[in-house]
Amino acid sequence: MDGMMMHRPLRVADILTFAEEIHGQAEIVSSTVEGGLHRESYFEMAARCRRLAKALLRLGIGLGDRVATLAWNGYRHMELYYGVPGIGAICHTINPRLSAEQMAYIVNHAGDRVMFLDLTFVPMVEKLAAEFPNDLTYVILTDRVQMPATTLDALCYEDLLAAEDDAFDWPDVPEDTACGLCYTSGTTGNPKGALYSHRSMVLHALLVGVSMQNSMTPGRRVLPVVPLFHANAWGMAHAAPLVGAHLVMPGPHLDGASLFDLMEAERVFAAWGVPTVWLGLMAEIEQRGRPPEGFGEIVVGGSAAAPALIRAFEYLGVNVCHAWGMTEMSPIGTLGNLAPEMQALPFDERMRLKSCQGRRAFGIDMKIVDENGTRQPHDGAATGELFVRGNTVVSGYYDNAEASAAALDADGWFGTGDVAAISPEGFLTITDRAKDLIKSGGEWISSIDVENMAMAHPHVANCAVIAVPHPKWDERPVLIAVPAVDQPDTDAVMAHLAEHLATWQLPDDVVYVEELPLTATGKVSKLTLRRQYADHELPEVG
Ligand code: ADP
Repeated sequence: MDGMMMHRPLRVADILTFAEEIHGQAEIVSSTVEGGLHRESYFEMAARCRRLAKALLRLGIGLGDRVATLAWNGYRHMELYYGVPGIGAICHTINPRLSAEQMAYIVNHAGDRVMFLDLTFVPMVEKLAAEFPNDLTYVILTDRVQMPATTLDALCYEDLLAAEDDAFDWPDVPEDTACGLCYTSGTTGNPKGALYSHRSMVLHALLVGVSMQNSMTPGRRVLPVVPLFHANAWGMAHAAPLVGAHLVMPGPHLDGASLFDLMEAERVFAAWGVPTVWLGLMAEIEQRGRPPEGFGEIVVGGSAAAPALIRAFEYLGVNVCHAWGMTEMSPIGTLGNLAPEMQALPFDERMRLKSCQGRRAFGIDMKIVDENGTRQPHDGAATGELFVRGNTVVSGYYDNAEASAAALDADGWFGTGDVAAISPEGFLTITDRAKDLIKSGGEWISSIDVENMAMAHPHVANCAVIAVPHPKWDERPVLIAVPAVDQPDTDAVMAHLAEHLATWQLPDDVVYVEELPLTATGKVSKLTLRRQYADHELPEVG
């Protein structure tokens, strides 16, 4: 027997109209590309989104059209997040750090009709325009005064909005309509598009709002360092307006000093981002001898946060929530908030739990399987490839039959490509990306394990452990480290590792570098390192 309840479509625009009515005075503060801070309330933002919707319709954009954005975190990008899907079009966020080749591929693959871009990216797009579709309309995210001289035949964002009024009713789009498109950076092969729906996006906003109760409460001031152009800024762009948290947007200013200043000036409570960002902020905190005033929480994910980093923030009284997810999961999968009884555990025990990747968010199911697809127990010891399913997980990739066919197993679970263990209490520990595991003489070595140990040594500021080909053992680990001191003591680092690791897990060599190569999403690029060190001569082999 069916229930007898109404069925209203879940729409992204409903988050906006709710924020306008219920949290209208909460604000978005943006550090702008043009310079200075800009403030607008959710009430004001909603009115501007309606103007934007009318402007888009006037440009001929409608249901299912792809609208590209190349922009930093700021209020105009937020307006696109709501105005574009509001009329049934698809907001296609592009990562500006992609290679020219990848960017040309995805703009053409997506079939974008309009591209909204920040001033920063005008020179880059001028160079690429010949590779983009001929009929692409460019809109520069600025006002008339700041419009640059450009070879692009470009419109001005503020002119478009000024030409409209804000009387507009959001149309009733069906909830399965696509609302957003985000390509994974595609370390191998071409990038693949995750195509979100209104339904999945609203459910994800609720999931983040419910799970992240420290950050996501009315009146909290939260700062997404994680970009709007990467995996929905981990749901902050939707969850914050939904719950009435204020958003403080850093624009292009993402170094430790700029973040510190903005956080302090705007009394930011929580900030979310990848580990490399927090290493930068920690260096700034150490230099100034204190954290920013009012700073209470970081959410860290995208790659494994080393226990040493987690401890360093916790010592300062900053709660660390370690999260795991993927573009294909909207992206939140697990979150490291501890239950009240766990909060009462001794410090070391809490840090052990926090170093795991957290527990599943409501609506996400997880399983680990061996190479034959047999489910492994959630006993904290067995490892296997992690599969997930849920309403916020992709069912395939946009216009890519081959990748779609390979994405799900026979039971409809999505294969993450991560290797993990799950404890009886549900704590996920990511051992590695399957392709980053090191296979030495038939045994697997977790690069994350060795990195976490190395990061705990005071002479190591940052590091990556990669596999280097070996004639006898197939592969052996090499530690590539950014030293924290002028004269790092390799013997001391190795002795420290030997305290925690079996002899065969110890790196065969330590190489010091000034900095590690990063991917377009700010993670250490092990692919680049593996290429760079493919012919590295290991000392023992000679
Ligand atoms: P990209 O490949 O573009 O970086 P994603 O951001 O979607 O795309 O990357 C998702 C992957 O990042 C996961 O499959 C996992 O390997 C890794 N990852 C994300 N969060 C964590 C974490 N907390 N610990 C370890 N790995 C993580």
